[in-house]
Amino acid sequence: SEERSLNFIEEIIENDLNSGKYTTLVTRFPPEPNGYLHIGHAKAICLNFGLTQKYGGYTNLRFDDTNPVTEKTEYVDSQQEDIKWLGFEWKHELYTSDYFDTLYDFAVKLIENGLAYVDHSTADEIATLKGTPTEPGTDSPYRSRSVEENLTLFSSMKAGEFEDGACILRAKIDMSSPNMLMRDPIIYRIKHAEHHRTGNKWCIYPMYDFAHGQSDSIEEITHSICTLEYVSHRELYDWFIAQLGIFPSHQYEFARLNLTYTVMSKRKLLQLVNEGVVTGWDDPRMPTISGLRRRGYTPESIREFCERIGIAKRENLIELSLLEFCIREHLNKTANRVMAVLDPIKLVITNYPEGKEEILIGENNPEAEDKGGIREIPFSNKLWIEREDFMEEPAKKWFRLAPGAMVRLKNAYIVKCEDFKKDSDGNVTEIHCTYIPESKSGEDTSEIHVKGTIHWVSTKHAKTAEIRVYDRLFSVESPDSEEGDFKDYLHPDSIKIIKEAYIEPYLAGADLESRYQFIRKGYYCLDKDSTADHLVFNQTVGLKDAWAK
Ligand code: ATP
Ligand code: MG
Ligand code: MG
Repeated sequence: SEERSLNFIEEIIENDLNSGKYTTLVTRFPPEPNGYLHIGHAKAICLNFGLTQKYGGYTNLRFDDTNPVTEKTEYVDSQQEDIKWLGFEWKHELYTSDYFDTLYDFAVKLIENGLAYVDHSTADEIATLKGTPTEPGTDSPYRSRSVEENLTLFSSMKAGEFEDGACILRAKIDMSSPNMLMRDPIIYRIKHAEHHRTGNKWCIYPMYDFAHGQSDSIEEITHSICTLEYVSHRELYDWFIAQLGIFPSHQYEFARLNLTYTVMSKRKLLQLVNEGVVTGWDDPRMPTISGLRRRGYTPESIREFCERIGIAKRENLIELSLLEFCIREHLNKTANRVMAVLDPIKLVITNYPEGKEEILIGENNPEAEDKGGIREIPFSNKLWIEREDFMEEPAKKWFRLAPGAMVRLKNAYIVKCEDFKKDSDGNVTEIHCTYIPESKSGEDTSEIHVKGTIHWVSTKHAKTAEIRVYDRLFSVESPDSEEGDFKDYLHPDSIKIIKEAYIEPYLAGADLESRYQFIRKGYYCLDKDSTADHLVFNQTVGLKDAWAK
């Protein structure tokens, strides 16, 4: 893509490398395995992996698995698959849970240095004593416990001698700090729950703030990049590293991706899955990477999208149409053109011999350098065409079929409409045409010029397919900022299913990786529900921006 100026993180990195502050850049992508990755994660993935591709060094994949209740191996697997599919390779596959012993030792060290204590106050008491942003907090009565007592209690916590919630370990920092997070934050809590990797070894788990920075430090991450919500956590991040005297990783914050007409939090997406609003995490309407992949998005288009939206320091809302623009642009260059009739009506060529078959040649992609090669398209006297390509009483400037009018059948002949049939309800059921034998595409000597070209498939050779056409998942731009529940704003018609469309026989050879342009209709790909007897295609995106004003 085009040259662009450095984003603010690249500027920081160039300075750090030039000044010799670091010699090797190390970044990490740290998902919590509590759901499937979404397009917002793709932004963080492209950023973290993109930086080490550009400046050298490497990127770790670290599963931030400190919450045993919500985390699953299924999510670990899908997250790895999605990152690979996007085109990135991590150096080390790591798990915060692998550091549980080290993190425990860090906590003991803080206690030994008089910088952490076990607090038996209730959650309510802790909240009350915390104060407010404008009023200082009050010390907990347990704040003055001795080092020995704290060491014994913390070891009892670890040994499982307390119930969930009986007590917590807190850092002893500053109960009157203007930053509420510095008012003796919780660093360990008791949770008797099985962890997807450590099983029942632990019944105490570190909090995010105690785990994240120290994990960065253990891995000698130089630039720990996260979203803006963590700005106020940075002081705490630095405090733990300074008190423990460990590798000085630094945190930098950028604006998260917000996209119109969708929600982007694993917790909310999980609700849509659990409540059956969508068919799964990879439902083609989902903003997940697996949903986008199933919908027909390519890794290139998602990477291009992330490049175009850039890295900013202020929150913004990106138009879904930009994502669609990126996939349209990529598929325009790469997808083979084929013919599919989505709303069929029969066309009979009365002067083309019954039983005769002809193999015509179609160019696969005029936009590709090699034209994408050619394919064979069977032709006969009975075709399916699109119902909307015929008008009984044509409007002005109508260049498609109408009584007496001529059009070119794509890759085939010019036909003239001679007659049509209607049923008792007045619906057109069949169109009768004659064809001009000398007008065959590529060897046309007819000297007849027509303005319209329409697509078709031969009825005898066509395959039947189910086509799924999607619309936005939500009917408002920002479901998160509306009143009430975000699910109140679901789009009522986010999926339309065409049960019987007719497609070229060539498409029977489609696989899950193939992408097609159904000419004049849009971009489509095979769905994983497809079988040899029941072909199913998803519409990735229409040919034009349907919502452009
Ligand atoms: P979610 O609420 O969707 O679960 P999260 O931030 O809790 O998001 P994590 O699994 O912790 O999810 O995210 C891993 C990384 O991806 C983090 O570094 C986070 O900053 C980044 N990330 C998550 N959502 C977005 C987003 N919308 N835009 C950019 N980066 C994001
Ligand atoms: Mg998180
Ligand atoms: Mg989350």
